[in-house]
Amino acid sequence: MRQLVILSGKGGTGKTSLAAAFAHLAREGPCLVPLVLADADVDAPNLDLILEPRRIEEHEFVGGSKAEIQYETCDACGVCADVCRFEAVSESDGRFEIDPLACEGCAACFHECPAHAIRMQPQVAGRWYRSESRYGPLIHAALLPAHENSGKLVTLVKQQARLLALDGGYAGLLVDGPPGIGCPVISAAAGADLALIVTEPTVAGIHDMERILATTEHFRVAAQVCINKADLFPTGTEQILDACRRKGIGVVGCIPFDETVTEAMVRGEPVTAYRPDAPASQAISQTWQAVVLRMNIIERKS
Ligand code: SF4
Ligand code: SF4
Repeated sequence: MRQLVILSGKGGTGKTSLAAAFAHLAREGPCLVPLVLADADVDAPNLDLILEPRRIEEHEFVGGSKAEIQYETCDACGVCADVCRFEAVSESDGRFEIDPLACEGCAACFHECPAHAIRMQPQVAGRWYRSESRYGPLIHAALLPAHENSGKLVTLVKQQARLLALDGGYAGLLVDGPPGIGCPVISAAAGADLALIVTEPTVAGIHDMERILATTEHFRVAAQVCINKADLFPTGTEQILDACRRKGIGVVGCIPFDETVTEAMVRGEPVTAYRPDAPASQAISQTWQAVVLRMNIIERKS
């Protein structure tokens, strides 16, 4: 079972549009590949907006704990306020209170409280789902507002998707990863056979691509690049091609700017399903075939 993760150095490069189109092409394109889909962009999940899946299961995600004082045993000594480095404990009229928004869950107060009056209460930080889409099963998730631990939730999403793929005998796992280069990205890329980096020909796009390529190189994940809106700034596209050539990174796709992509998103469809003959769809289809060949996951060719 092979894993493909789609990444970008920043949001808004067209990563999810590409993931949705790949999901469609894997089911109905020239290279058929039975895939499990995973939306690992848990801070801003939107693959489900395009694929409109039917939810089969919903689960809570417990992402850390917060301290709570048990007042029946608290003797108001103030040790918790002294040890808290996050200024989450305050005192009012001899009563100590913990601000749940300020509490970082470090548990220093729990360990130091002489009266054992502090409990670490697990917090529901989000939800994850198993759904069925037009193009195969989808594991996705969402963090609740103001909650952290997205790296842990990404790992959970990938674990569940991988289990589903292994149990169901699927050939591959397609992961729509989070943008950036932080902890959630590393969780999404871990164990991938290929990271497809989506970039745009802008100064910031080239810089972001180089940062994410440094991250995948550090974690020894093979990477290839796809340039979106490649025709908007040919000089920038040339610079990306040059940079990739120097690094020995393959560029597997140059997708032209095409308003059909936005139209398809508004209609909740992958662009390759909405207008297969559109220039972007044609380029994405060629990119998909190059990726499938690179990963050697073709089940059969029509
Ligand atoms: S350290 Fe424990 S006993 Fe002391 S004020 Fe805090 S909760 Fe109460
Ligand atoms: S768990 Fe850590 S951050 Fe939270 S109140 Fe206790 S010492 Fe402060």
